[in-house]
Amino acid sequence: MLRRKFLQIGSLGLSAFSFSSFVNLQEKRKPLVLSTWDAGIEANKAAWEVLKTGGRALDAVEKGVMVTEASQNCCVGLGANPDRDGFVTLDACIMDENFNCGSVAFLERIKHPISVARRVMEKTPHVMLVGNGAQQFALAEGFPLEKQELSEPAKKSYEKWLKKSEYNPVINIERSSSSVYQIPQKLDNGDWNHDTIGMIALDANGNLSGSCTTSGMAFKMRGRLGDSPIIGAGLYVDNEVGAAVATGQGEDVIRVAGAHTVIEFMRAGLTPEDACRKTIERILKIKGAKAKDIQVGMLAIAKNGTYGGYALQKGFNYAVCYADNKNNLLDSKFLIG
Ligand code: ASP
Repeated sequence: MLRRKFLQIGSLGLSAFSFSSFVNLQEKRKPLVLSTWDAGIEANKAAWEVLKTGGRALDAVEKGVMVTEASQNCCVGLGANPDRDGFVTLDACIMDENFNCGSVAFLERIKHPISVARRVMEKTPHVMLVGNGAQQFALAEGFPLEKQELSEPAKKSYEKWLKKSEYNPVINIERSSSSVYQIPQKLDNGDWNHDTIGMIALDANGNLSGSCTTSGMAFKMRGRLGDSPIIGAGLYVDNEVGAAVATGQGEDVIRVAGAHTVIEFMRAGLTPEDACRKTIERILKIKGAKAKDIQVGMLAIAKNGTYGGYALQKGFNYAVCYADNKNNLLDSKFLIG
């Protein structure tokens, strides 16, 4: 076993080596919750409150990401960046241990899309509702209609974007590879700007669930959807195998059916980390030299409580929580950077 670990590390190369990730490579935990990026630390705390008392993973992943959705300073929820017409449009999905799943997309003026996605799963015969229909359903379910206004940070960044982009809808439609549409974008300080939280959890009963919620790509075309509300792309759970979630350039995650592909690699015997790496290698192969312009990060938990993540580029991190005082931010390994 030890030899196998060293062989795995050897094949990754020194630049991709991170001691904390190595230590966690084969760790088994239960209950356990993982979530994308640094906002995952606060989200994990709320999820942990559910998991530590024997609660269901499904409740944990809903409660957890609601924290991020409610934050006005984050890139998720109604406080997040708008589309290029100035409207915040939200996407979310959720999946439980029995292949039940629900999703909403292009949803406006509703604070907690993840909870609407759960209602779609529990109260309708459908998996996805979008746009006005999703909003009407949310209102009928008693979710309040929030004001149509941008948070202060979003207003500032939108105003900046309008100047820099010389806003012109027709030109922007045609500028397919413009940095205008690249999310997560690399910021001046080298960090990645990101707009999603994805969370996966294993509860004390050994059941898995996942959630994913986003404002999507900043300043996107009106009506654009990424991977985050798409079951099989942004999120997938197979309770016999594992759970996986994605963040980053949604178009490229969709292209490889990202989260589902991770699950299939795990079904074939790969560790969560290796399954994420293999999936990201597919994206790298497809994108070639253009891969340096995008970021994708993936996380997975296997049924046995092992977990891991992998990214296309340096800079992706994720929060792992398995005890009251064990909620750590880990740097992901990566393929290029
Ligand atoms: N995956 C999201 C999307 O493409 C964006 C992100 O993860 O930051 O909409």
